[in-house]
Amino acid sequence: MSDDINKAKSAILRNIPSIDSLLKIPKAIKWLKEYPRNLVLKALRDAVDTKRTELLSGEAHSVTLNSLISLANDRLTAHTSFSLRPVINATGIVIHTNLGRAPLCKSAIDNAAAIAAGYSTLEYDLKSGRRGKRYTHVQSILKDLTTAEDAFVVNNNAAAVFLCLIAIAKGKEVIISRGELVEIGGSFRIPDIMAHTGARLIEIGTTNKTHLYDYERAITDNTGVILKVHRSNFQITGFTEEVGIDEVTALARKSNITAMYDLGSGCLADLLPYRMHDEPVVKNIVKKGVDIITFSADKLLGGPQCGVIAGRHDLIEAVRTHPLARMVRVDKFAISALEATLMEYADADKSFKNIPVLKMLTEDIREIKKRAVRLASGIKGQTTGHMEVKMISDTSYAGGGSLPGHEFSTYAVVIKPEKQTVNELEARLRCSNPPVIARIKVDSLVLDARTIFDKEVKTIIDMSKSWCAT
Ligand SMILES: *Cc1c(COP(=O)(O)O)cnc(C)c1O
Repeated sequence: MSDDINKAKSAILRNIPSIDSLLKIPKAIKWLKEYPRNLVLKALRDAVDTKRTELLSGEAHSVTLNSLISLANDRLTAHTSFSLRPVINATGIVIHTNLGRAPLCKSAIDNAAAIAAGYSTLEYDLKSGRRGKRYTHVQSILKDLTTAEDAFVVNNNAAAVFLCLIAIAKGKEVIISRGELVEIGGSFRIPDIMAHTGARLIEIGTTNKTHLYDYERAITDNTGVILKVHRSNFQITGFTEEVGIDEVTALARKSNITAMYDLGSGCLADLLPYRMHDEPVVKNIVKKGVDIITFSADKLLGGPQCGVIAGRHDLIEAVRTHPLARMVRVDKFAISALEATLMEYADADKSFKNIPVLKMLTEDIREIKKRAVRLASGIKGQTTGHMEVKMISDTSYAGGGSLPGHEFSTYAVVIKPEKQTVNELEARLRCSNPPVIARIKVDSLVLDARTIFDKEVKTIIDMSKSWCAT
């Protein structure tokens, strides 16, 4: 009996076409004209190997030429398309860490492209004709915008915090409230960072309450820094108490120690008129006399991935000249995009129009509604009989460690598929080109119009017909 099965299997295996014969099929001949030969060969071999394994394991019982070619086609597409690709963010989360945080403003994109395309003054001083420093390009504009004495930029905010602590607090004690021992994005934990800087972490207070006397009592001759960390991705509510930055700064000054504040999200714009109170504005914090602050450039600031360090000149100098600074240095694309983004802030009104993150967070709800209406009616037109499509008012979030708990009213398109499950529809959108990332709510898919760019509305509508295919 089992002999018969093995014989049958061998017969099928023998019938799998050879790579040479597959290469003569019209489809493969077409591929050879479009793609490098080695990639076509690799795709065909992958397809044949996969089918052979499926046969041997009993997962498949026959192999058709069509199934081989279709598999090879998938492989070829995978081998010849980018892994890092643009997507349409329909989640409504404006600063989405998994989707690349802040989209850049036009001037930043143009400037980065120009710098990428050729040589630049990255480390060249045009005035003297001598070697210059990459950090100086954004130094004075950062000083202006933050009102700090000095400023320095590194690869990201995690690096900024790390570098500051190692340069300023190594071998010393760093006091921090237990309510602020945060974890950001899984791998950035204040206590772990601290352990590697050679500073000694002194935890004070409790999770929900820290008083000024907790700080006072913890100060010793060996205290180097009082560190405050902005709770940027969560809130503590209820029976709580936190010591404000004013009091922490006053205490640090009196005791001759450094006050440091990891702001997380570097908000340069005044969001108060938009009733977003919970996010500290950088220059207001600097005014309070904090010695050194750090923040990300790709959160509320709306720029590229960078970590900004601003504060007292002598401290910034210690950070700048630390040997590790070279290891977390910022690249020319980030500097060029950051400089252009910062320049947008010269005109406050324009910055809210031009910087996508600020625009999306403060956009007039009527504009969002218009976009949602267009999207809903467009999708409805393409999918009648297959989906139930309607517009609803909903809630979006800032995300990316900014404005935790702040809810933004929004409009969204809700799509309930009738001939497939919502998970199948979600996967379809995710695997389309460009991918559309949406949220599932019970048995429907929700597309939030807040984070969908105007020009993407048509793209989505055009694609929506293909969502119905069975
Ligand atoms: C986001 C964040 C960080 C990490 O910043 P990256 O730019 O992602 O490295 C550190 N601290 C706080 C408080 C944050 O919100």
